Amino acid sequence: MIRDPELLDQLIDTISRFVRERLIPNEARLAEEDAVPVELLQEMKEMGLFGLSIPEEYGGLGLTMEEEALVAMEIGKTSPAFRSVFGTNNGIGAQGILIDGTPEQKARYVPRLATGELLSSFCLTEPDSGSDAASLRTTAVRDGDHYVLNGTKRFITNGPEADVFTVMARTDPNHKGAGGITAFIVEGDTPGLKRGPSDNKMGQKGAHTCDIIFEDCRVPAENIIGGQEGQGFKTAMKVLDRGRLHISAVCVGVAERLVEESLNYAIERKQFGVPLADHQLVQAMLADSKTEAYAGRSMVLDAARRKDAGENVSTLASCCKLFCAEMVGRVADRAVQVHGGAGYMAEYAVERFYRDVRLFRIYEGTTQIQQLVIARNMVREVS
Ligand SMILES: Cc1cc2nc3c(=O)[nH]c(=O)nc-3n(C[C@H](O)[C@H](O)[C@H](O)COP(=O)(O)OP(=O)(O)OC[C@H]3O[C@@H](n4cnc5c(N)ncnc54)[C@H](O)[C@@H]3O)c2cc1C
Repeated sequence: MIRDPELLDQLIDTISRFVRERLIPNEARLAEEDAVPVELLQEMKEMGLFGLSIPEEYGGLGLTMEEEALVAMEIGKTSPAFRSVFGTNNGIGAQGILIDGTPEQKARYVPRLATGELLSSFCLTEPDSGSDAASLRTTAVRDGDHYVLNGTKRFITNGPEADVFTVMARTDPNHKGAGGITAFIVEGDTPGLKRGPSDNKMGQKGAHTCDIIFEDCRVPAENIIGGQEGQGFKTAMKVLDRGRLHISAVCVGVAERLVEESLNYAIERKQFGVPLADHQLVQAMLADSKTEAYAGRSMVLDAARRKDAGENVSTLASCCKLFCAEMVGRVADRAVQVHGGAGYMAEYAVERFYRDVRLFRIYEGTTQIQQLVIARNMVREVS
């Protein structure tokens, strides 16, 4: 749903200019320094990028899912690590508190997440529980008006920097599955919360992950999201629904950027006396990528509109994540191919994007997990 087309056009225009004039020229620097330049971080805050999906009453822009998808597609046109820094505040880091938090929790954290004053992280994955998230082992044991957390969370985006963590922990040891899990808000300076060293990743340099280790970490009972034990897994799954559409939209944006990079290169470079773009086999690669990016755009916008209309889009969000994450992998692969040897060289953006996009098929539910979700929902619907 687009509430005010003119206002949205202005926002997208502003973001598009920011991407072209400020972020794209700094992509190589981001990768080299493995950090988002401080001045760009400040500009992102001033533009409201940390609060895109946070309601206006909490100081965010309050975008609908369709509006957010359109914005995410624009942001996708540059290195995904730029998005990662504010992505958790809009998505997995803040949505749990927004969707299921108590009024006090929302008032305490959400306005500061919207401005970027606080950076957030979402702690679900553990060394022995990834796709099988419901088997997580981090424990939270009640002790008076506190819970004592013990366990390790792995690959946590923005973990090295985050001020506030949404942590899924098992409060009911007798309940091995999802029902024994509770979501907690844990502040970054809580004694007993430790951060491992930053992971050395394949791509998306500038976006950091690390282990988050809880050793007798005492968290006030009032920090249970929603105030009720056993609801944490449901909260996590609700968060992932919106997140999957957001990530899908980013994949579409990256794919469109790669189509543009490929087309420009194919027009400029000549072989056999004519531009690459005149060779029909190169044209086939360009056409396939264009078509797939367009298919991704169409399906994400359709699912986003349905979500705005109140439909349960759990299946469709997984369809989008499955298709768009795989699609952008194919588009990146073709982009390298269109560039030939140059595509294998670090000075060309496609080399970096080729590594960056690999992550989309893995996090927020692997491709295989999306397949399982889709098929299980299909079977459930008919039985
Ligand atoms: C850069 C990065 C950032 C991340 N950020 C976060 C974060 O902020 N917060 C967080 O909680 N997590 C985060 N993750 C973790 C991510 O969500 C997990 O890595 C992902 O869910 C997969 O889990 P796993 O790595 O344990 O793989 P595994 O679950 O061990 O899977 C390995 C392979 O087996 C397949 N597989 C597993 N089970 C099945 C099955 N039943 N049927 C078919 N195939 C199956 C998988 O699809 C995969 O191909 C991040 C990961 C990375 C790499």
